[in-house]
Amino acid sequence: MKIGFIGLGNMGGPMAANLAAAGHDVTGFDMAEVKVEGVTMAPSGAEAAKDADVVITMLPNGQILRSVADEIIPAMKAGAAFVDCSTVDVDSARAVAEQAAVAGLLPVDAPVSGGIGGAAGGTLTFMAGGSAEAFEKAKPLFDIMGQKAVHCGDAGAGQAAKICNNMILGVTMIATCEAFALADKLGLDRQKMFDVVSTSSGYSWTMNAYCPAPGVGPQSPADNDYKPGFAAELMLKDLRLSQQAADSADADTPMGQLAQALYAQFVENEDGMGMDFSAMLPRFEKRSRD
Ligand code: NAD
Repeated sequence: MKIGFIGLGNMGGPMAANLAAAGHDVTGFDMAEVKVEGVTMAPSGAEAAKDADVVITMLPNGQILRSVADEIIPAMKAGAAFVDCSTVDVDSARAVAEQAAVAGLLPVDAPVSGGIGGAAGGTLTFMAGGSAEAFEKAKPLFDIMGQKAVHCGDAGAGQAAKICNNMILGVTMIATCEAFALADKLGLDRQKMFDVVSTSSGYSWTMNAYCPAPGVGPQSPADNDYKPGFAAELMLKDLRLSQQAADSADADTPMGQLAQALYAQFVENEDGMGMDFSAMLPRFEKRSRD
């Protein structure tokens, strides 16, 4: 397949490299000067998109996605799929899908879970919104870049699934970190805390697979001075998207709201910027000593 790939950053770069390694003809574009193994670089987004059967975007936010869509949609050939893998607000995802469908394209919003490790290893989970025809066209590429692709529903359904998942993730990480900080205060050994919770009803992905306590559980950013991993500011971005969606859908999400406020405090007023999102644990530790 001929693929255009726009946004070759931490995630997009390895995803595009995996498609090229699988034998696809990949032409890429990024605003920054980047090189990706096996990918031919084009001078603009429109050039990368023009002859492609599938165009994939992996961009920072909805505003940038909308401006890239304005540029590439008129350049794309009829019947091509436009697959956006960025995490963006549901409204931008739906607006871009509408614009692409009117132009005779097959739009899919397909954000991912699995982080940069999943992007490099080809083990991402894709959550997709769009028509069955569009999903089927993109599916062979999801199977190369990931290990699971769920067709969640119509346009925007992929982004809806992503922000609900990440709202759970943000809330659970905070709960796990504050529980460790409380356990410290109660004199409980962290390894014992892990041994109990990871096999009891408090278990979660944040405890079992991404433990925020250094030296405890599997290797995680906590074992690397809380270097990301998944940066706290990206967690904040996703929590803001979930609260924005909750506002526009009139849904009551008090835990998500509190998680957003705590990550905003951590990133904007404390020392969370550039730290992994699990660095909430040293934050709670420090506060408990204040
Ligand atoms: P990144 O900042 O590393 O990459 C984004 C890339 O887009 C950059 O290389 C940037 O130069 C490029 N770009 C920006 N504007 C552009 C434009 N107008 N035209 C062409 N290129 C442009 O970010 P990332 O970590 O790769 O994340 C990309 C998306 O994936 C985000 O929406 C993020 O929320 C989501 N995501 C990230 C992770 C993660 O762990 N990093 C996990 C899941 C989802």
